[in-house]
Amino acid sequence: MSTDPEVRAELVAAVRRFVERDVAPVASELEHADEYPAALVATMRDLGLFGVTIAPEYGGLGLDVLTYTAIVEELAAGWMSLTGILNTHVMVANLLAASGTDAQARRWLPELASGARRGALSLSEPDAGSDTGALSCRAVRDGDEYVINGTKMWVTNGARAGLVALAARTEEGITCFLVDKEPGERWGGISVSRNIGKLGYKGIETVEMVYDAHRVPADAVLGGEAGLGHGRHFILSALEVGRINIAARAVGVARAAFEASLRYAQQRETFGVPIAEHQAIQLKLADMATKLEAARLLTRNAAERRQAGERCDVEAGMAKLFASEAALEIATDAMRIHGGVGYTTELPVERYYRDAPLMIIGEGTNEIQRLVIARGLLARYGIDR
Ligand SMILES: Cc1cc2nc3c(=O)[nH]c(=O)nc-3n(C[C@H](O)[C@H](O)[C@H](O)COP(=O)(O)OP(=O)(O)OC[C@H]3O[C@@H](n4cnc5c(N)ncnc54)[C@H](O)[C@@H]3O)c2cc1C
Repeated sequence: MSTDPEVRAELVAAVRRFVERDVAPVASELEHADEYPAALVATMRDLGLFGVTIAPEYGGLGLDVLTYTAIVEELAAGWMSLTGILNTHVMVANLLAASGTDAQARRWLPELASGARRGALSLSEPDAGSDTGALSCRAVRDGDEYVINGTKMWVTNGARAGLVALAARTEEGITCFLVDKEPGERWGGISVSRNIGKLGYKGIETVEMVYDAHRVPADAVLGGEAGLGHGRHFILSALEVGRINIAARAVGVARAAFEASLRYAQQRETFGVPIAEHQAIQLKLADMATKLEAARLLTRNAAERRQAGERCDVEAGMAKLFASEAALEIATDAMRIHGGVGYTTELPVERYYRDAPLMIIGEGTNEIQRLVIARGLLARYGIDR
């Protein structure tokens, strides 16, 4: 159901205030220290953001994808990492709502909605990123349990999560398991083997996790027995919202880079005039603003389509592809406009420049997006031969 535009505007304004008051003053310091923003996450919890898309019957705000997208843009304009703390969590909640059994939804959604339990999504492996069909993590049935063995890579929020949606191979194909765990580096047969160092996207851990004969109950299969072998399909469908989220993050980072450039171009003077009066700078500002506007419109279009309950793999792919490439270009132009100071750690421009490339890789690289878009178009408009 669509969110009342007034309710949406109120919540987005509340998130914008949070970003201006709490995030902007500390983002650079925390980011440079690669420090987890515990206090900011606590405020996000208080704002109800962990339950943003979860239905009110489970304690969530029950807001639509368009509202979620607008919130992600606001957070990313302040510090992109905050959106990563939310995204895998929201995807796990969406997976439960769309593909979980009633009992699974009742068991997990209330704790996810309050943020008491945090979600992580674990699809990728060291040798299986784009090629999700090549997963080697295995789950073997043993009585009333499954025994899981394998190594998962790039698990954002993995260590802090209390519920991991894990893709593993079973006899039936790829199955998604709801793995209950305590936050921390070790739980049962699960251990965090590596905290991966990153160019940007700091303050939030992305880890490698090893499953060594870790046991889960048979009812941990997402969707119950009927879900066996359908995990890849469930997760790829949830990735539609994940890709809209990435597009919205890109819009947020691009907006911050553009607004900083617009301000700086009017303050900084060379040859006796503000640099905004040089045509070379004006051309950049015009291109940046146009790309930003186009990226935002594509993102909203994908969100509206998803909200209408329509398949939106093509639109989500287009939004993610265009917005992330635009963010990368806009962040680079922002650095050029700032000259030498853009290359220093004194302004957040260098952070936008380091954060932007994640969006061309995460939730499927942009090469894979193009394949998704083309396949989707051919399926929609293919001719009968
Ligand atoms: C910071 C970060 C956080 C992440 N968080 C998560 C997470 O929480 N959960 C999770 O499951 N995953 C996560 N990922 C993983 C991410 O989704 C993968 O990195 C991504 O899908 C690419 O996989 P790969 O790194 O194995 O690259 P590869 O698949 O090895 O690709 C390498 C290159 O080859 C190209 N390529 C591959 N196949 C094709 C093809 N068929 N045609 C054309 N080009 C191709 C790719 O586009 C890329 O340029 C995260 C990644 C990063 C960097």
